[in-house]
Amino acid sequence: MCGIVGYLGDKPAYEILVKGLHRLEYRGYDSSGVALVSSDSKLNVYKTRGKVADLERFCEEKDVDGTIGIAHTRWATHGEPNDINAHPHVGRSGNIALVHNGTIENYHVLKEALELEGCTFKSETDTEVLVQLIEYIKEKNNCSLVDAVRGALKEVVGAYAIAVVDTDEPDTMIGARKSSPLVIGIGEGETFLASDATPIIEYTDKVVYLNDDEIAIIRKNEPLQIVNSDNMPAAIDIKTLRMSVSQLEKGGYPHFMLKEIFEQPRTIHDCIRGRVASSGDEVLLSGVTEHKERFLNAHRVVIVACGTSWHAGLIGKRLLQEIARIPVEVEYASEFRYSNPVLTPDDIVIAISQSGETADTLAAIQMARKCGAFVYGICNVIGSSIARATDSGTYIHVGPEIGVASTKAFTGQVTVLTMLALAIGTLKNTISKETRLQIADAIRALPTLISQTLKLNDSIEKLSGIYTYVHNFLYLGRGYNYPSALEGALKLKEISYIHAEGYPAAEMKHGPIALIDHELPTVVIAPDDEMHEKIISNIQQVKARGGSVIAVVTKGDTTIKEIADHVLEIPKVPECVSPVIVSVPLQLLAYHIAIKKGCNVDMPRNLAKSVTVE
Ligand code: GLU
Repeated sequence: MCGIVGYLGDKPAYEILVKGLHRLEYRGYDSSGVALVSSDSKLNVYKTRGKVADLERFCEEKDVDGTIGIAHTRWATHGEPNDINAHPHVGRSGNIALVHNGTIENYHVLKEALELEGCTFKSETDTEVLVQLIEYIKEKNNCSLVDAVRGALKEVVGAYAIAVVDTDEPDTMIGARKSSPLVIGIGEGETFLASDATPIIEYTDKVVYLNDDEIAIIRKNEPLQIVNSDNMPAAIDIKTLRMSVSQLEKGGYPHFMLKEIFEQPRTIHDCIRGRVASSGDEVLLSGVTEHKERFLNAHRVVIVACGTSWHAGLIGKRLLQEIARIPVEVEYASEFRYSNPVLTPDDIVIAISQSGETADTLAAIQMARKCGAFVYGICNVIGSSIARATDSGTYIHVGPEIGVASTKAFTGQVTVLTMLALAIGTLKNTISKETRLQIADAIRALPTLISQTLKLNDSIEKLSGIYTYVHNFLYLGRGYNYPSALEGALKLKEISYIHAEGYPAAEMKHGPIALIDHELPTVVIAPDDEMHEKIISNIQQVKARGGSVIAVVTKGDTTIKEIADHVLEIPKVPECVSPVIVSVPLQLLAYHIAIKKGCNVDMPRNLAKSVTVE
């Protein structure tokens, strides 16, 4: 959460910074700001509540001169989203500006100590404490900016990615990180800092991912320097980005979310490419084959994740248990990390995160590694913190996901989990050759099946008009598709602000059935599988109480067509891959209802992607 951009070079910094902020807006959008070091070494700071477009309007008549600057788009943790709490924050001299992603947990203690030294604070943020501390140390020790930053960070408990500029050293920009991401872009005579590579890609493909406790010293016409917290030089590992600018644009769609829903035939194709042979039952996940023994000897799998990734984890549990016959537990990373979990070196911990930066999941990984468990990551963002902190793993390879509500990353995660279950099942010999072939065929068919399912778009758009002004929704599913119900409900509430609850269909009678009346529509996920008869009874129970039912069914299901109010027909698919296909109409339903309500689907209120705070 929160997006940081920094630029130091020869070009006007403002345009580059603002363009970068637009790219990072998925990380937060309650306020934004920019600090520029002008050619006569003055600091100009502009910040305002609202989105990056509001900042641009605010800056229209302002002096935006300067080739060095830092910028920020905020997702507030400390203090309401207003102009004063927006970043950058400046020290009392007005010479040092800082942007920050993360939380300074001991900010209160530091603030009190600084107040005793005469500092006064304008904002309610933890961030302002850090910039004041840097300035205090710099003045007290009469030291350079980088030494002051290093000194201040030694006092800080918490998570941060920061960028700092100082008019006393107008050709310098400092970056540092601990538990929040920061990428350095190395161009010809120019250097960039950003929370992820998206603001950098059109200028250079050479990047360095800063590690925890490292400080980057970026000076004009000097090579990049990185030091650790003890001021010892750290290695500079330059990586080449494999991302294109077109992946970051809407490509003719009105919203990123719709683009990402429609991209799924291709993203799933990319996800399985080279991993499932074009025929036969072979599945190749290097993350598994390189650690064969760990998988063969594992006693248990613990999946840790948050939000949509947690839902993918629930489907993963089902897949791994059924196909690889291994006991699986699925935990919210935020609960797991504080639950004193019992982990042993025989456990495999699977961490799932689209961004690879989710703070709680990262903390859960660190805990698992301390206990000696083998940690396997499933991430989208290449080079992300989780990808680097795990023993092994598999990228989902679905390309940048910009829409805040996850769509293609979810289907990518479930697809990887299916391949993982198949790989482990093959290794352990827990499934017959025939079943292996069936599952491999089903995975190979996914891109085509998704394309067929996307044809529902027009009918879902029409259907959404009926439900635009409903206040509550219930989503029911069973077996593999109970987590699909949770995910469908989450999608709807995230972007349309309609309260929606996902439930295992058979559990409805133990409580939620009391909610059913003609004002509460129920989405029932009822493909033609083992539970089909049972779920028909659940639909009957809803209908008997006057509720309306939208059912996701297998093409040709005449029984449910007769009882449900609306049916969304998906192709016939094997049960174990049905969650991927089922998620498509649920994504489209949420999208169209939210659009009809006039909601900003790509930037829903209060939310942000890449949750780097606790
Ligand atoms: N704690 C800082 C603030 O509230 C940064 C928040 C974040 O990174 O999400 O302004």
